Amino acid sequence: MNQRRGKTFIISGPSGVGKSTVLNALMQKRSNLYFSVSATTRQPREGEKDGQHYHFIDAETFREMLGRDEFLEHAEYVGNFYGTPKRYVDEAMERGQDVILDIEIQGAMQICEKRPETVRIFIAPPSWKELERRLTDRGTDSPEKIQKRLLRAKVELNSASSYDYFVINDSVDKAVAELDAILCAEHCRAADRISEIEGM
Ligand code: ADP
Ligand code: 5GP
Repeated sequence: MNQRRGKTFIISGPSGVGKSTVLNALMQKRSNLYFSVSATTRQPREGEKDGQHYHFIDAETFREMLGRDEFLEHAEYVGNFYGTPKRYVDEAMERGQDVILDIEIQGAMQICEKRPETVRIFIAPPSWKELERRLTDRGTDSPEKIQKRLLRAKVELNSASSYDYFVINDSVDKAVAELDAILCAEHCRAADRISEIEGM
């Protein structure tokens, strides 16, 4: 068989819905996944490591990277900048790895304009109340920041119908199983499978 090329999967969803939690579990379950580490100007939360969760940089460095066209996409979110470094995404796909981008909806739109084959998955909470509870109980954001993130969440949930898939993170195990199934199905698409057969 010819070596398959990796695919890119965008995961979006309101802050606090459980994207990091679910993606960590998915990474344990599926080998051959590459998690794209974004650059951000936001301050690290307790326990977050530079280069693992984010590349934590200042606004000037962010502007310099933007000037050198190093981002596949970028966006402002609740007072900070976030961007996906292009180089590592392309290298991982060339190696045959699937790439996971945990990004918000403006960045998702930019990528889909440039690369329409990208698969977009939206993760939603089981209820609005539960989203508020998770954001508050996580204990990483001030009440003011939580309100700003919840305001953004309303806008994001209104955009969810334009995504390819919709996963409700009620239970982590179920959400991970659904994500796993989506990745698996996307690799069974006829156009991709045929190109994997030698001599075709
Ligand atoms: P995000 O990355 O989307 O901002 P996190 O992964 O940080 O969200 O999760 C936010 C909070 O919700 C965390 O405290 C996490 O432990 C909790 N959480 C995640 N998924 C679930 C779930 N299915 N049920 C209950 N709590 C969850
Ligand atoms: P947080 O500050 O909670 O880690 O992330 C805030 C929001 O920024 C989340 O919706 C997350 O998906 C998004 N995000 C993280 N990295 C990027 C990125 O590189 N680009 C864009 N557009 N959004 C990102």
